[in-house]
Parts: sequence; structure tokens; C-alpha cells
Amino acid sequence: MDASEGRADAADSARDSRECRICHAGAEDGPLSQPCGCRGSASWVHRACLERWRRSSTRRDAAYRCGTCKVEFRDELSLELLRARLDAQRERGSAGALHSMSRLAVELQAQGRLAEAEPLLREALEVCRATRGASHSDTLLSTTRLAALLQDRGELAQAEPLCREALEASRAALGTRHATYLVAMNDLASLLHDRGKLSQAEPLYRECLAARRRLLGPRHPDTLVSLSNLGTLLRSLGRLEEAAPLQEAALQLARETLGRRHSDTLAYLSNLGLLRLAQGRLGEAEGLCREAAEESRATQGLQHPETAASMSNLAALLKAQGRLDEAEELYRAALESRRALLGGSHPSVLRSASSLSALLRARGRGEDAAEPPTRPEAAARGRGEDAAEPPTRPEARLRRRDGPHRSMRRSVSSAGALPAADGTLVADGGGCAGCSAANTGATSDNERHGAPQERGLRL
Ligand SMILES: [Zn+2]
Ligand SMILES: [Zn+2]
Repeated sequence: MDASEGRADAADSARDSRECRICHAGAEDGPLSQPCGCRGSASWVHRACLERWRRSSTRRDAAYRCGTCKVEFRDELSLELLRARLDAQRERGSAGALHSMSRLAVELQAQGRLAEAEPLLREALEVCRATRGASHSDTLLSTTRLAALLQDRGELAQAEPLCREALEASRAALGTRHATYLVAMNDLASLLHDRGKLSQAEPLYRECLAARRRLLGPRHPDTLVSLSNLGTLLRSLGRLEEAAPLQEAALQLARETLGRRHSDTLAYLSNLGLLRLAQGRLGEAEGLCREAAEESRATQGLQHPETAASMSNLAALLKAQGRLDEAEELYRAALESRRALLGGSHPSVLRSASSLSALLRARGRGEDAAEPPTRPEAAARGRGEDAAEPPTRPEARLRRRDGPHRSMRRSVSSAGALPAADGTLVADGGGCAGCSAANTGATSDNERHGAPQERGLRL
């Protein structure tokens, strides 16, 4: 027997020893799959066994995630089970319906079904306002969730009053020296930036950066977010020389404090790369964007929103250099990965499709291009299209759910406790076990997707 046969035998016996973690039978009873992040002997399960467990378990989260590793299944069954629970609670008039509403909305959003999530988030916000009051942490979280959803749908004008409301509510409840208030300020600045109200965004970004330096210190991750966001705004304003030291400092400090491979560090790499592109320093830009794409692929895998975003940025750069074959290949890979992750109608997917179409049209192969996105909200957002326009187009900012960002959603849920309107501390979801579970869901969703918005990459 030669060595290669020995290896084949070893692989066969490893395959033979796989068994379902629920029924302990092997592949002879049906194909075994690895549906979550569990590894080792607990990683394999029969699809039917898992479905039976999810349908019958008394665990609240069995409907949508693995009880051990907490990785979410993100499938149709999650939606079916969460809908059924919500319907049953509505029928009984149960208070748990508020939590189920939020949880279902989070799940729909994560699966890219934003239109279906919106009415649920609107209803949840109404219920929170009516039963908990304007300054309660649940109301604040509901407000920021709906604002973020509207932003993802490109409904920026509708999102603006909600961002202002969240800022006002957190100021009233927490004061101006609280980290959550500063997150709300940053969120509003970021929205104004997306709306093209650059001169209104600048003083807010500056105030937020100054307050974070003072309260959190110059090396805190949130301070670095502010540095980079202000730098990105200045790039949008064409003030490239002012932007450069901010983007350089954000990257340098992130490398020192978070490490070279942290997802924030990779975002700053891309942001500096895009600034170099705007400055016409193409060689440097390529090095930075390539490093971001390769590191993201190595650490987060090919099927990850941030990897897709960094590939897209690199493609825009290659397109600007006239290296169209390489750009096309990267745009296609980014589109495929986003489609697999998010379905066909998610804004990120539409942006990717639009970038690829623009490239194909530029190459005289318009007929090969998929239909460009026609949804009004995709056009209205005025960012989008990774490179349907020249990649330096200032407003073409990717303010994605999948971009690294500490948003209010995360901050509120991870803060754990917020003062109520009367100044007493309300434990996160203290009045509502459901909301605290929903918050946990949103947090892990953000973490898995790299967390949203604040300092999206710009093209
Ligand atoms: Zn089984
Ligand atoms: Zn697991």
C-alpha cells in the first residue's frame, strides 16, 4: 500500500466515524450537514433531526440559532417558526409579542427582506412609545433600528427625523457625556453625509471626535471610528490634504491597538486606499486595497460581506487603472458572494450588480449585463453602485449594514443598561425579557456581519 492509499483510507475512516449529534446515527440514515459553527464530533447533524429539534425545543432561540455556538441558521424555517410564535402571541394578547416582532424583524433584515421587516419595526416602535415612553432604552433601540432599516432601504429622508429623535432622547436620558449619546450623534452625522448635507455633517463629526478624545481617550476604538469618519467626509468635500492625516492616524492607531487583522483595521486600510486613489497615488492605493481584500479573505473567508466590500473596492481601483479583466473578475466574485449571503434583492446585491453592469457597458458588453437595479430606493440613496460612477464620486459612500461600525443598535444592546426617563437605571430589556433577547439577537447579527454603518467604505 503506498502513502496516497493510506491517506485515502484515513479520510474514509474519518468520514465513517461521523455521526449525527442528535440521533447518533451515521450517513446511512441520510446526508449529514454542518449547519452552524460547532466543530469536532458535535458538528454533524441530519437535516431532519435538526428541524425536529428546532420545531419542538422549549428554548426560545431554537427557532433561529444553534444553542451551543449561537450561530444563526438564517433560513426559511427560522422565519416560519418566528412568524408562528408571533401569531400565537398576538392571538393570546401576550406581552411577549413585542419581543417576537423585533426578533422576526431582525431575522428578516439579516436575510435581506427589508420590505417585510419595515412594518414590524414600525409597529414595535409604536408599542414601545405607548407603553414605555420616549426615553426608555427599548424605545431608543426601536427608533435606531427603524432608522437603520430605512437607511438600508435608501429612505434617507424618512430616516433623518428618527436619527434626530434618537439623539434628542439619548441626550435627555443620558446627558451629553455618555458614549451612547455620542453614537447617536455619529449616526446622525453619517446620515447627513449620505444625504449629501456635508456642511451639516462636518460640525457633528468634529464635535463627536473631540468628545470621544476627551471622554474615551485618543486610542479608543470609537475615537478611531470618528477619526476615520471625519477623514472620509473631508474626502467627500475634496479636502484631501486635510483628510490624509486623519485616515493615516486611524490606520496606524488601529494597527497598534486592535492588530493588523482586525476588521476595523481592514476598513481603515480600505479607506486610506480610497483616499490615495482620490489623490491619484494609484500604486499606494492598490497596495492598501489589495492588503485589505487579502487579509479580509484570509480572516473572514470569501463568503463574508466585508470581504465582498473589499473586493469591490479593489475592483473599482483596478477599473480606474484600466485593468478591466481583473476588475470584472473581482466584481463578479463580490456579486456572487453577496447574492449567496443576502439573497437577490438586498441593497448591497443591487449595488454590486449595478457596478458590474456599468463595467460591462464600459467594455461594450452591455447586453451581458444583468438588469440594473430599478428600485426607486436604490437610486434615491445616491450612494450605492460601487463603481457605476467614477470610484471617487464623493457621495458614493458604502454605508452598509455589513461595514464595520459601532452603531446605536450595537451600543444600546451592549451597554446593557440605560437610565430611564426618571433617571433610574433600566436593565437592558429589564421590563421586557423579550426585548433583551431581541437586543442580543441584533448584536450577534451585527457581529456576524461585521456590524453596520458608521464608517462605511467610500468609493
Ligand atoms: Zn440524526
Ligand atoms: Zn453550533
